[in-house]
Amino acid sequence: MGGLDSVASSRAAKLATLEGCTWDLVVIGGGITGAGVAQQAARRGWRVLLVEQRDFAWGTSSRSSKLVHGGLRYLKEGDIKTTLHSVHERQRLMREAPELVQAQRFLFADCAGRKPGRWLMQAGLMVYDLMAGQRSHWYADRQRTLELEPGLDPPGLRGALVFSDAKTDDARLVQRVLMQAQGDGAVCLNYVAATELVLNDGQVCGVALQDAVLGGRFVAKARSVVNATGAWADRLRANLGARPMLRPLRGSHLLVPHARLPVTHSISMMHRQDGRPVFLYPWEGCTLIGTTDLDHRDDLAQARITPPEVDYLLEAVNDQFPQARLMRSDIVSTYAGVRPVVDDGRGDASKATRDHVVKDERGLITLTGGKLTTFRLMAQDALALAAPHAGKPFARDQSVVFQPATGCEGWPEPVRQRLAARYGERAALWAADATADELGCIEDTQTLWVELRIAAMHEAVVHLDDLLLRRTRLGLLLPGGALGHVERIRLLTEPWLRWGDAVWQAELGRYRELIERQHAVPPP
Ligand SMILES: Cc1cc2nc3c(=O)[nH]c(=O)nc-3n(C[C@H](O)[C@H](O)[C@H](O)COP(=O)(O)OP(=O)(O)OC[C@H]3O[C@@H](n4cnc5c(N)ncnc54)[C@H](O)[C@@H]3O)c2cc1C
Repeated sequence: MGGLDSVASSRAAKLATLEGCTWDLVVIGGGITGAGVAQQAARRGWRVLLVEQRDFAWGTSSRSSKLVHGGLRYLKEGDIKTTLHSVHERQRLMREAPELVQAQRFLFADCAGRKPGRWLMQAGLMVYDLMAGQRSHWYADRQRTLELEPGLDPPGLRGALVFSDAKTDDARLVQRVLMQAQGDGAVCLNYVAATELVLNDGQVCGVALQDAVLGGRFVAKARSVVNATGAWADRLRANLGARPMLRPLRGSHLLVPHARLPVTHSISMMHRQDGRPVFLYPWEGCTLIGTTDLDHRDDLAQARITPPEVDYLLEAVNDQFPQARLMRSDIVSTYAGVRPVVDDGRGDASKATRDHVVKDERGLITLTGGKLTTFRLMAQDALALAAPHAGKPFARDQSVVFQPATGCEGWPEPVRQRLAARYGERAALWAADATADELGCIEDTQTLWVELRIAAMHEAVVHLDDLLLRRTRLGLLLPGGALGHVERIRLLTEPWLRWGDAVWQAELGRYRELIERQHAVPPP
């Protein structure tokens, strides 16, 4: 199996293969959607190329709320199909990748005079549990609620509904799916943009590509092409003169130190201001708070939280945890993602459908919308349309996506879990020579030092933000984008990155500017 290899010569070798053949499938976009399509096709023996214009998971797939959920809120909108599919896929992911997709218990406070009331919530949770074939929900009275989550004390608290869902590390989920795709022979390249579709008789037959690292231009001939560019999907479709169909919606998040808001559950609530769902939960040693849902009319690549969104999220937390008195100065970092939501003409952003869309326009199969959770089903929908173009038979199936992590038995359980979550079946090989020091956690995080070295060695790191925002999440979890640790980070990774002084300085400048622009707390 080839790794996600950053060495320039290996990159050049991969690029050299781009023009030499006709691919059964070219996938454009390296988020969860594209990764899923590449994985499903490669496992069926298709010859697959995946290209990502920036870094793998650079788009929405590293900026989501990171919940692998059935979507209780979609049930509330009457979107039964999305909920059912999501619940099944959640259960499957927890079975197949238990270290990466973990159960998370939720509390929803039942408060006098606030909606939805206990009985409505309970009815919804009953359906939710039925879909998953389990009974996870129950009602905790006020006393029990205060024991379960000390500090949770919104006005009028009578008790809470307790139920179960799941969480993950979204960028790592993408990496795991890409690893599986590569293991089955897919060629996956970051920093290669699809600049144009190539047409023959009005039908898509290839893609013009530009490599941002070595600077080359290529044309990849393709029997089928999947547009998995998320919120950017309309841009490629415009090449064919297709009418735009997406309504980009921004959702923003805050991260605060766990010690400042030491929850063990995910607290789910309806915001007092507008009745929208908001949540907070423990994630990677911090507490993650989200999210908003607003039309995003600015540059898609520059999405960031706005000052009113910061206030909105803090207000939600302080409503549920009045003693916490959470403030702007508590925030470690922020991030915002843009949902590729299909525009169904509804005014209220929160009510727009979250279901995915798949369509074939002159051989360009666009797959967008949807969720992290349902990537496997979405991929199969796209392949059903791509198969006739690719000249391949296609049948939906239930085969596993992830191979289990084996051979990690010698490590302490938390270390085993951490490595298995991130590297799956490659964990034992990639961390085999880790020193005791490298298997320690970076202060105030659950990240192991060895994760930095593994990323530099095997995971196609091109820029510093690839390493600190997506292969690891240190840039979000530590103040100042984790630059307090830059000396040791450099020491650990330089033997493989081989950037030298000048490139390190340039990378540091670029990264500092990015953290300030997109991840710091904006001034009020
Ligand atoms: C705020 C928010 C919270 C969410 N929370 C959840 C959640 O908790 N659970 C859940 O299941 N889902 C959640 N979602 C939904 C989920 O995150 C998205 O559906 C999913 O990440 C979309 O993945 P994607 O691969 O389609 O898009 P992206 O991840 O955006 O990937 C598209 C990629 O295409 C690349 N690209 C664009 N143009 C080109 C080109 N010309 N050439 C090459 N590459 C190109 C981009 O750089 C980008 O990386 C959330 C979404 C948002 C915005």
